[in-house]
Amino acid sequence: MKIHQLSADEAIASLRSTPQGLLSVEATRRLLEFGPNRVQKVTRESLILRFLKQFTQFFSLILWIAAGLAFLAEWSAPVQGMAKVGYAIIAVILVSGLFSFWQEYRVEQTLVALRKLLPQQVKVSREDKVDQIDVEQLVPGDIVLLEQGDYIPADCRLIEAFGVRVNNATVTGESLPKARDISPSEESELIHGKNILLAGTSMVSGQAKAVVFATGMHTELGKIARLTQVSGETISPLQKEVAHLSRLIAALAVLIGLVFFAIGWAINVPFWQDFIFAIGIIVAMVPEGLLPTLTLALVLATQRMAKRNVLIRYLPSVETLGAVTVICTDKTGTLTQNRMAVKQLFLGGTFVLPVAAKQVRQFADHYLPFFLAAHLCHDLKEGEQRGEKVLFGDPMEIALVKMAQQVLPTPPTYRRLDEIPFDADRMRLSTVHEMPDGPTLFCKGAPETVLLLCNRILVEGEMHPFTPELREKARESQDAMARQGLRVLAFAYRQVEHPGQHQHLEEELVFTGLAGLEDPPRPEVPEAIRKCHGAGIRVIMVTGDHPHTARAIAREIGLVQSDDPLVITGEQLRGFSVTQLRLVLDTPELIFARVGADQKMRIVDALKQKQHVVAVTGDGVNDAPALKSAHIGIAMGITGTDVAKEAADMVLLDDNFASIVNAIEEGRAVFENIRKFLTYILAHNVPELIPYLGFALFNIPLPLTPVQILSIDMATDSLTALGLGIEKPDPQVMQRPPRSQRERLFDWSLALRAYLFLGLIEAVASMAAFFFVLNGGGWKYGHNLATNDPLYLQATTACLSAIVVMQIVNVFLCRSDIRSVVSTGLFSNRLIVWGVILEIALILLIDYTPWGNVILGTAPIVGKVWLFVLPFAVGLLILEEFRKWSVRVRLFNRVWGSICSLIKVSLGSRP
Ligand code: ADP
Ligand code: MG
Repeated sequence: MKIHQLSADEAIASLRSTPQGLLSVEATRRLLEFGPNRVQKVTRESLILRFLKQFTQFFSLILWIAAGLAFLAEWSAPVQGMAKVGYAIIAVILVSGLFSFWQEYRVEQTLVALRKLLPQQVKVSREDKVDQIDVEQLVPGDIVLLEQGDYIPADCRLIEAFGVRVNNATVTGESLPKARDISPSEESELIHGKNILLAGTSMVSGQAKAVVFATGMHTELGKIARLTQVSGETISPLQKEVAHLSRLIAALAVLIGLVFFAIGWAINVPFWQDFIFAIGIIVAMVPEGLLPTLTLALVLATQRMAKRNVLIRYLPSVETLGAVTVICTDKTGTLTQNRMAVKQLFLGGTFVLPVAAKQVRQFADHYLPFFLAAHLCHDLKEGEQRGEKVLFGDPMEIALVKMAQQVLPTPPTYRRLDEIPFDADRMRLSTVHEMPDGPTLFCKGAPETVLLLCNRILVEGEMHPFTPELREKARESQDAMARQGLRVLAFAYRQVEHPGQHQHLEEELVFTGLAGLEDPPRPEVPEAIRKCHGAGIRVIMVTGDHPHTARAIAREIGLVQSDDPLVITGEQLRGFSVTQLRLVLDTPELIFARVGADQKMRIVDALKQKQHVVAVTGDGVNDAPALKSAHIGIAMGITGTDVAKEAADMVLLDDNFASIVNAIEEGRAVFENIRKFLTYILAHNVPELIPYLGFALFNIPLPLTPVQILSIDMATDSLTALGLGIEKPDPQVMQRPPRSQRERLFDWSLALRAYLFLGLIEAVASMAAFFFVLNGGGWKYGHNLATNDPLYLQATTACLSAIVVMQIVNVFLCRSDIRSVVSTGLFSNRLIVWGVILEIALILLIDYTPWGNVILGTAPIVGKVWLFVLPFAVGLLILEEFRKWSVRVRLFNRVWGSICSLIKVSLGSRP
């Protein structure tokens, strides 16, 4: 017989286990025998294959063609020395291939390391003690405790179940939740067994105890994993955009190369000269490092975010985060500390205050069912961690249990017979216990739902009818407590005849009292909210709590300022049409209270329709659809269920709202960094290109050879460029509104600044240096120079060196497009500092060593040349500083403004 056909006890016995769990030594032994509970993905492509792939990328292909042409040229006209260009291009392909491979590898390693930050844990009973362990440590025979929202960590057979429903979609493909219980099943196939929980599926509702019978690759999921492949990482819109952009630039490069080749042909430039020229242009303009740098920038950002307690599960979210315009956030645990403490009680029509154990103890006899409910009606698990007794679960329930323990000297425990689970839509939890006077149901939850179920009230130990007046009084006291920001829960009980029939259990209850719990705001939240407002990001509280409580907390943290912000309840919301909802979302100070998961989803969708980029937080099973639907779904790392985490794009390791704001800051920085990087490398394309124009159009000696261009792109500028790609967020990045979704990475202002400002100045400097050397050596316009003439070699060296000097200055200018170098500093980015050192070392090697001279066709230049270049570098600095300053003070608007008013004054029409 298969395990699902056995009874629960037989199943446990067949696995040589007990209902109390395995002995620790036995668990350790089984772990050795069966291995860790891990589903290994079958390895993807081999490392070699992935390495080779780097050389068949789009850019590589272009460069291969260029190299091929160079060799072809060498073959047909050996004197031109084109073989050297060919080898240089191949070297570039190899270097950039290696570089991308290393980056890709590093990206993967980082992502693996990040995933480990959120180990999946499970509660397991061993030697009759409950403990929380990594799922990888599970072995067959272990007794696990599961609840709604948990991922099933291994194949298990139920031995205790209350309201268990599972979603087996990941394994069997059926997406409707299925009820599961402990009775033996008739099914022939194990995966359809009514008492089976399959690894990789999730528990949609209920509470369960189950025995593990298969782990790791022996589970049904493991068997599938052998057969199918997990789909690859998706690429982000930003990556797509960059891929598109760089293809565009590359195509443009080829096109320009061909056009100039044709022009050269037409004006009778000698064929080989024309040819070198075309290849030079193509090589100069192909942006080799763009894509790998982008991916690395994204991953390094996720690493920085991890340090700030945000785990990115989906790489593209990094940049989407930067564009977020509205955050819909939970209250409990996110804005507040989730450190609950009972502050007030309302028993039998009177307030009991404050909750000091002594004062309350006198109520213990008359209101025993109230305290029993607080003690018994919860989903906490009693466990042991490092030798100490602990309660795992909702801090609110822990606070209630603690309160009950203070009041009841020796709180009795009664076996649980049944449970109607809590969910955010029901807003209450009921449990049935075996008591001396018969089975009794205890219920606790939001007063709005619980009070409706009550028809009697407990006063001084006696039952009275729950009259409208008493009801009104209860409601008033709830409001009074909620107005102070307390979370209010109502308690009720009754004896039941037929536990198990859920429909009629929660009826005709006896109301026993209210408890007001305090949950102070997190101290860092007000600052984070202020930051959001400064950054043009709206924050909307969407809570399951009472409107008064929500409003009180919102005011406390500065989320709303006015005395009466608009508070919309889930019930009102249900009556709203989509249009009404969209209109109400325009209200500046808005709070949603008593909202269930389905309404949260509607709010997210309406915001999306209003062109917002929406981030939403969630923790429960029901939140999964909203998390998926939002642009950024954010799950709670501590209180969140596995299901919510799986549906989310990112996980807050500390559940803290402030961490979301930090992540947005990093996300914005990524986008800006790519722009800095782009500006920097586009700028050097101009001084690389202009020499060719001079060469072709004005018949001057070629100021910069293709190999020298490659040495800038691939060597001297490589590290500094990367450094710009991974800059820390600019301090002002959160003082600007979110970037519009339409804003492109590469726009006119960037192109103008890179090409026509920075690039052009660099080109002037390098050409000037070139002619400075030529003229110094007695060259006159029209003279021809041999390519190995010492004067020519020195002149190209001067041109190359000038570009390098200018780029050293430029890297500091590119660190911000409006802030001065004085405020961005020189040493705050270590990679840039190293990049500059590398840049200086390389250019010295190139200029002054025989090797460098031979490989790059250079010759040593005298100190005078460096001195000649210096003023250009200073000039670049001053001009760019002036440009930034004028943008900062809006100089042109002002000048224009004063001109206009001058005209008005002179026309005599004073304003
Ligand atoms: P929040 O947005 O504050 O996290 P929830 O959706 O978690 O709100 O809960 C909504 C309401 O359900 C709470 O205000 C409370 O009245 C009730 N509630 C929450 N947790 C429990 C629980 N464990 N047992 C009973 N009722 C609960
Ligand atoms: Mg909650």
